[in-house]
Amino acid sequence: MSKVLIIGAGGVGTVVAHKVAQNADVFTDIVIASRTKSKCDVLAADIEKREGVKVTTDSVDADSVPQLVALLKKHQPKLVINVALPYQDLTIMDACLECGVNYLDTANYEPKDEAHFEYSWQWAYKDKFEKAGLTAILGCGFDPGVSGVYTAYAAKHHFDEIQYLDIVDCNAGNHHKAFATNFNPEINIREITQKGRFYENGKWVETGALEIHKPLSYPNVGPKESYLMYHEELESLVKNYPTIKRARFWMTFGQEYLTHLRVIQDIGMARIDEVEYNGMKIVPLQFLKAVLPNPQDLGENYEGETSIGCRIRGLKDGKQKTYYVYNNCSHHAAFLETGMQGVSYTTGVPAMIGALMFLTGKWNMVGVHNVEEFDPDPFMEQLNKQGLPWHEVIDGDLEL
Ligand code: NDP
Repeated sequence: MSKVLIIGAGGVGTVVAHKVAQNADVFTDIVIASRTKSKCDVLAADIEKREGVKVTTDSVDADSVPQLVALLKKHQPKLVINVALPYQDLTIMDACLECGVNYLDTANYEPKDEAHFEYSWQWAYKDKFEKAGLTAILGCGFDPGVSGVYTAYAAKHHFDEIQYLDIVDCNAGNHHKAFATNFNPEINIREITQKGRFYENGKWVETGALEIHKPLSYPNVGPKESYLMYHEELESLVKNYPTIKRARFWMTFGQEYLTHLRVIQDIGMARIDEVEYNGMKIVPLQFLKAVLPNPQDLGENYEGETSIGCRIRGLKDGKQKTYYVYNNCSHHAAFLETGMQGVSYTTGVPAMIGALMFLTGKWNMVGVHNVEEFDPDPFMEQLNKQGLPWHEVIDGDLEL
């Protein structure tokens, strides 16, 4: 008997809920709670129709620890899967500690009033989780998430020493909208407009936002302009693999997307501070979110696929070796299975697998951990079974 509580019923929460229901032998009781309960009810009805599984729903403001504590006491889950927003990570971790519940998320904590994310806030909970005998699994989406598991798998099976790591994230899909983000627009725009950063020879090197770019070729997609960005898993991976000399993250963007993004910034709509409007205070980026397409509604007309992977160079038996491990995910196939597009799917499936790893005792270290600290093998096995099969290229040209 394992009861799981999913917090957040957006694009990613919808996929997590479907996948958890598909694995009802492990997840014997499922609760979905979010700020707007009606969204959880619609989702529960869809899951009952598609998967034949009954789901309990509830409402919670996850910014409030007392509300979360009341929710956890009421449902008594073994594990919380947090797929609300990064702003809620710490409140949910606090409530988990108070109620003796384990924790998993897909994005590291970010304060609302500062577009800045890093693991220090959540790593600071390590002792508390250890003392309570609880586990917190951080960053268990695709990137962060599978990117860390891929790296751990490469370290375990292919390298004595990982030296160069490039995480490459390509969305070669077309949703037929002039501009839309693939996950929460507020979080997405905050992330992409930040300065770039990569790790080299023990130091972080800062770049202008999307300043460094080059075409990279992706399997079944071809060449796409790829932009160097800072991404949160770089922080934990260089810590957990100290032989890494350089670690970078690349993401593809189309010209149309970048032009819209520039205009949004130039006219002040990416601002996260409050402005006066008609006698009330609004945050421009939050207002923009309200008028942009909802990422949850993109799936129906989404064509093409994502291709995300790790390109790694290092030493094996004293010789240089290259290794590329990746997944390609079809937006349309994701939509047919869960009603959501590929970006929500590639995030939600790994979150479910991380939960499955924990509840089946395969990932069982207490404390606060990033995914690469656990055994990658059972997770990699599940990726092939749960809809995100992976492929590898050994000693190919990495282009990087
Ligand atoms: P959405 O905006 O679609 O969904 C967020 C959900 O959280 C909504 O149901 C929302 O409720 C709910 N929520 C927001 N604030 C609160 C609150 N205070 N209390 C309770 N519920 C709340 O986001 P996505 O599904 O696109 O993204 C979810 C998470 O996944 C984000 O943290 C994102 O950063 C992460 N992510 C991770 C990726 C990875 O690969 N690791 C990739 C993509 C996303 P309401 O509907 O009422 O607003």
